[in-house]
Amino acid sequence: MTKTEAKHRIDQLKEVIAEHRYNYHVLDKATISDAALDSLKHELYKLEQEYPDLITPDSPTQRVGGKPLPKFEKVTHKRSMLSMEDVFTREEFESWIARVQKLSTSLPTYFCMPKLDGLAVSLVYKNGVLVTAATRGDGNVGEDVTQNVKTIESVPLRLRLLTTPNPRKGAWPPRGFTPSLKRRGDPQYIEVRGEVYFPVKAFEKMNKELEREGKPTFANPRNTAAGSVRQLDSSITASRGLAFIAWDLDADFGQETMEEEWKILEDLGFRPAPESKRFDSIDAIENYWKWLQEKRDQLGYWVDGMVVRVNENDLYEKLGVVGKTPRGLVAWKFPAEEATTKVKEIQWTVGRTGALTPVAVVEPTWIGGTTVQHASLHNIDEIERLDVREGDTVILYKAGDIIPKIKETIIKLRPTQTQKTKAPTSCPVCGSKVERREKEVAIYCTNPKCFVQDREAILHAARAFAIDGLGPQTIASLLENGIITSPADLFLLKPGDVLGLEGFADLSAKKLVEQIQSRKSISLPNFILALGIRNVGEQTAIDIARHFGTLERVMMATLDDLMEVEGIGDVVARSVREYFDQEHNQKLVEHFLKNGVEVHKPMTTKKTSATGKTFVVTGTLESLSRDDAKEAIRRAGGKVAGSVSKKTDFVVVGENSGSKFEEAKKLGVPTLSEKEFIDMLSASI
Ligand SMILES: [Zn+2]
Repeated sequence: MTKTEAKHRIDQLKEVIAEHRYNYHVLDKATISDAALDSLKHELYKLEQEYPDLITPDSPTQRVGGKPLPKFEKVTHKRSMLSMEDVFTREEFESWIARVQKLSTSLPTYFCMPKLDGLAVSLVYKNGVLVTAATRGDGNVGEDVTQNVKTIESVPLRLRLLTTPNPRKGAWPPRGFTPSLKRRGDPQYIEVRGEVYFPVKAFEKMNKELEREGKPTFANPRNTAAGSVRQLDSSITASRGLAFIAWDLDADFGQETMEEEWKILEDLGFRPAPESKRFDSIDAIENYWKWLQEKRDQLGYWVDGMVVRVNENDLYEKLGVVGKTPRGLVAWKFPAEEATTKVKEIQWTVGRTGALTPVAVVEPTWIGGTTVQHASLHNIDEIERLDVREGDTVILYKAGDIIPKIKETIIKLRPTQTQKTKAPTSCPVCGSKVERREKEVAIYCTNPKCFVQDREAILHAARAFAIDGLGPQTIASLLENGIITSPADLFLLKPGDVLGLEGFADLSAKKLVEQIQSRKSISLPNFILALGIRNVGEQTAIDIARHFGTLERVMMATLDDLMEVEGIGDVVARSVREYFDQEHNQKLVEHFLKNGVEVHKPMTTKKTSATGKTFVVTGTLESLSRDDAKEAIRRAGGKVAGSVSKKTDFVVVGENSGSKFEEAKKLGVPTLSEKEFIDMLSASI
């Protein structure tokens, strides 16, 4: 290939790659597979390696930055990056509107857009090519973060409009434009401003990966986005999956309104917030504000309010700037996703990797539409940074739909006697030794089975309480997020606690909590079973419950008392006694009761011919399920066995009974039909 041919091919490749980028990031359409796109980029890369002088700054291969920088250079903004006035209520918003209308000769319209919680960045394009990306800084002087911003795929390296004669079929002038609209002013210089942000999915993905590696996770997407842009090593920025949304165009294409500007931004290759809309009445704007607030969890990025800008550019200019804020622009913020509360307790939970995570149990408080009672604390470094202690008053905040975090400890409200929070020296879950691995902030339990045991114990209890819809996955994330630390905590769950977890939406969170609440009442045998005492299975739990009658008596029973229970030997008696001797087990029982669990006495059994007899049930019964049949036998004071032996008193034979029926005949064990069985249970003797 000659150099001329190579140049031609390079130009073509750049154009095709840029087109697919535009389709994906602006139009939200995937028009090529990742693999095919990579393959095109690779071809381009190889050609450029062969002819290095053909590399241009707008080439997609230049997104992966060069060497780490020693420091950021300063950039002076051509036009100050102003800030915005905030309003919080309709009254405040109305008075802003009134001020605008006073200075206006005709009735203005308003352009409303989501207010992204990200990092404001200014992009300067010369002759259509990105030359500088700068942070806001103090509004006049920012930092040069070009190398980093280039790694963000939704930032075009070259503007479409100025390079492609016919960007979209018939797209210029853009949709809804007057044909007379032409490019005016200096074509060499175009500035676009917008927000670098962390897409919710990318943020959660990154945190999941960190968690899996046992590393500390990031709490705040806004700060993390800002931190990612301000990296001297651009390969770190590139790895984060950041995105860009444009909200301001400083170039004259003859646009007369913000709405037109929005369309031009799109045609230049940017993605402005697609939810943005023009309105002309306060009511319509308020409805949009409410709608946005309801939709916020589905937008894919974090928003903390709505920006309202006077749509007509001439009026906007005329309104001017007061201090550092333009008069034609206002941010109508959402109600605070922050609240203060008190830390009741700091607990440590064990994650999948064995890492111990601290969690603050707080007094229930209302944030962002839900009641919360837990806040993540991440690790001991975070505790030290916040200096949070049991008894402290703290500011909680919620970002998106994730579990709330502690923003700040209000030291001045600290009670006189508090203790500095320390990392545990032994695992609070299993009692094993803990270790702090080199170069890591996390503390680990040295028992490799710790997490699984914890999860299994809760799963076991949930089954004994017959709670549906609470599988090992859900229990694992409840544990890992520190929302529960013991099975007793299940009864304290509020929909807001569950809502942030994977696979839970409003309705399913509410359903799970209702389901758990409906299981608060439990029979004594099932409660004993739920405790997960070693060697105590279903039948043993029934035997114990029946013998002692009340929970108090079971807990007080001596070894000798326990040995008196029919069918209980030395081993079982010992493990029951040992269980109730341990303080944390007594506390668990206490917590169950305190959290609203009611243990009801076993029903007084009426004496029937079934009382004291051992049954085997085989085949399908018509009027009741196998489980119901077993329950009926137990309630009548009988026992259920799994296989037929000489000790079996009766075999209940249903439809399609198999080998057990044969066995009964062989051993001469009496058999009962379904009807005979039911009659036996219902007739007192
Ligand atoms: Zn442990």
